[in-house]
Amino acid sequence: MTQWRNWSGLESSDPTDVVTPASVAEVAAAVTDAAERGTTVKMVGTGHSFTGIAAPEGVKLSPAALSGILAVDRDAMTVTALAGTPLHVLNDELARLGLSLHNMGDIAEQTLAGATSTGTHGTGGTKASLSAQVSGLEMVVGDGTLVRASRDENPDVFAAARLGLGALGVLTSLTFDVEPLGVLEAHEQPMLWDEALARYDEFVDANHHCDMYWFPHTDRMQVKVNNRLDLEPDEAEPLSRFRAWLDDDFLSNTAFAGVNALGNRAPGLVPRLNELSGRLLSERTYSDVPHRVFTSPRRVVFREMEYALPRETGLAALREVRRLIDASDWRISFPVEVRMTPSDDLTLGTSSGRDSIYLAFHVNRRTDHTAYFGGVEEILRAHDGRPHWGKVHTRTADDLAPAYPRWQEFLDLRDRLDPDRLFTNTYLRRVLGD
Ligand SMILES: Cc1cc2nc3c(=O)[nH]c(=O)nc-3n(C[C@H](O)[C@H](O)[C@H](O)COP(=O)(O)OP(=O)(O)OC[C@H]3O[C@@H](n4cnc5c(N)ncnc54)[C@H](O)[C@@H]3O)c2cc1C
Repeated sequence: MTQWRNWSGLESSDPTDVVTPASVAEVAAAVTDAAERGTTVKMVGTGHSFTGIAAPEGVKLSPAALSGILAVDRDAMTVTALAGTPLHVLNDELARLGLSLHNMGDIAEQTLAGATSTGTHGTGGTKASLSAQVSGLEMVVGDGTLVRASRDENPDVFAAARLGLGALGVLTSLTFDVEPLGVLEAHEQPMLWDEALARYDEFVDANHHCDMYWFPHTDRMQVKVNNRLDLEPDEAEPLSRFRAWLDDDFLSNTAFAGVNALGNRAPGLVPRLNELSGRLLSERTYSDVPHRVFTSPRRVVFREMEYALPRETGLAALREVRRLIDASDWRISFPVEVRMTPSDDLTLGTSSGRDSIYLAFHVNRRTDHTAYFGGVEEILRAHDGRPHWGKVHTRTADDLAPAYPRWQEFLDLRDRLDPDRLFTNTYLRRVLGD
């Protein structure tokens, strides 16, 4: 059974072959072999993208045998790991070494290459995406050779391949900037819509990281801010095991799944269920090593669209989205997430060249998302929004090009590194062109 399927179940494909390379030489051999046979070749991650960006059509390269740390440089404060290493493995290994990444998204299941290739991001900090924390990489390109890139070596490849959409080659290793393992304090508080939006800039500017959730059909929001404390990891005050299980596992997954199922069966109840969920959230403060504050388990399977908007217009777009939802007959049971990232210098980075507010929209995996995501997408597009490369959207190469000042630079590099389109698939033809 070779079928490939993504986490949400929305995308699938039937690759002709599956290869599990265990070395750079084996990756190069698989690429050369695919070229000789005139087929395509694509390494997948863990399939956590909601789009078909990873869908392999010819040879599927599994990342399973390319996992682990290769080198630790404590002078440069960098760590090099194999491209298929799952993020949770890197986080645990780094913690054992007394080190940590600066920032990350809200789960840690993805592979390093998969997460960076779509620009997976968290919120706030000096760098918000995993791609922006990469300081070096190695990649097998279309002619089967290994290309190294960093700020000093092949800087054009470095700028693009840290968020390369899987379109430029097969990454074999990534070097990340790291910092000493510290303690992050999380403070979560319920707040009403007007106050949360009025104080948004204050929250972003006064804290290291800020994340907000709005419960559609209600005035209720949850604001979470994280700050670094001047403490050793053993001085952290994590939630008790019971409270962590109750809040982050039971309430966020098991109970949420039940509420979701009820809302699916009786959509008319969704506004009242959202109101109840918003009211049940309480204020809490805890601290832990960063990856345990940033990430938590996600067992309710959903579909997601997320857009990056210029920081200046992000909240205006959110207000418009609320008016659209209020005027519609949709019943949205998942909170809308609001995150913020500083500008970066990645060629096709969704935050490239501008501080950004990210708005993320979710529906249950069995719910048809097209009317809700489509209506919201029109607003986000009108606000000069850029869609997350790994999350549902309907954009195509023609209308993405004007959103990215360095678009042509990426296409020229793709022509140089993959002239025969060995690494392409249906999604890449749609968003980058042939
Ligand atoms: C529950 C959940 C929570 C999420 N939370 C966040 C979040 O907080 N922030 C956020 O920004 N995103 C988030 N995402 C999206 C997710 O982080 C991205 O879609 C990410 O790309 C998934 O990584 P993956 O390992 O599953 O890669 P896949 O989805 O399998 O692949 C992604 C891309 O990487 C390419 N790729 C994989 N390995 C290689 C390689 N070795 N060389 C070259 N290309 C390669 C693939 O070909 C494909 O193009 C979330 C997704 C889910 C399902």
